Amino acid sequence: MAKTAIITGGSRGIGKALSEKLGELGYNVVINYRSDSSKAKAEDVAKELEEKYGVQTLVVKADVSEYEGCKTLVDAAVEKFGDKIDALVNNAGITNNSNWIDIKPEAYERVIKTNLMSALHMTHLVLPYMVNHSSKDNQCNIVNTSSVGGMIGVINQADYCASKSGLIGLTRALALEFAGRGVRVNAIAPGMIMTDMLRGVNQDELNALAATIPQGYIGDVSDIAGALGYILTAPYLDGQTISPNGCFVEQ
Ligand code: NAP
Repeated sequence: MAKTAIITGGSRGIGKALSEKLGELGYNVVINYRSDSSKAKAEDVAKELEEKYGVQTLVVKADVSEYEGCKTLVDAAVEKFGDKIDALVNNAGITNNSNWIDIKPEAYERVIKTNLMSALHMTHLVLPYMVNHSSKDNQCNIVNTSSVGGMIGVINQADYCASKSGLIGLTRALALEFAGRGVRVNAIAPGMIMTDMLRGVNQDELNALAATIPQGYIGDVSDIAGALGYILTAPYLDGQTISPNGCFVEQ
């Protein structure tokens, strides 16, 4: 029977590569986007998955920083594919890159709501549609896109680091809570990966930071898609954070 996956922020950057990996693995994919500028990109990804992998797709505009947006997304997925959801990838994320004196409360609240609250809402809404059919032999998966910023401190990223370490805590706790019910919960903590997020920061600071990566280069979205593919096909991996980061952070 076909499996269904939901991905937040699945139209571009890392999310696009993760959407493609879900399609490659045979999931019907619900691709979420928020910005009007990403509508066509989400539809292009959906078309590509249908043509390349023969899966079904659904594109849903929703702001997952708000509970109502998350509910819109999950309700749309259930209406199209039924009350059985097999995978959830919490990927949507933003960053401010601001010092902690000048930053405005509404700016750091936006980061926490987008990066962390969205995952709380999405897991809360999706888990009933997982535990209604999951088992040891029919596992469901939740994968949270954290960051090396969830494992170490990064200057001018206090809100981002708080949100991303929060995701690692959420991953560990939910994994324990649902381990006996066939739902695995893992996280990916990317190092520096070239996407719009990195293109948007100060390039001198970025290059200086990139020069400190032991492997000597900034990673590619395919590195993160590879980690997702491993997680989804590794039945005994649970509660873990995998960090493709060029040895930027050792664990
Ligand atoms: P990106 O290119 O800037 O993409 C961000 C994605 O998040 C977009 O798809 C965007 O959707 C979505 N998004 C943001 N706010 C949203 C909201 N309120 N509701 C729904 N979707 C929302 O960044 P990226 O590098 O691919 O980042 C993807 C994830 O990887 C993020 O969680 C990020 O923190 C994490 N990460 C990235 C790096 C890196 O070096 N690039 C490193 C570590 C972790 P729209 O386009 O529709 O706005």
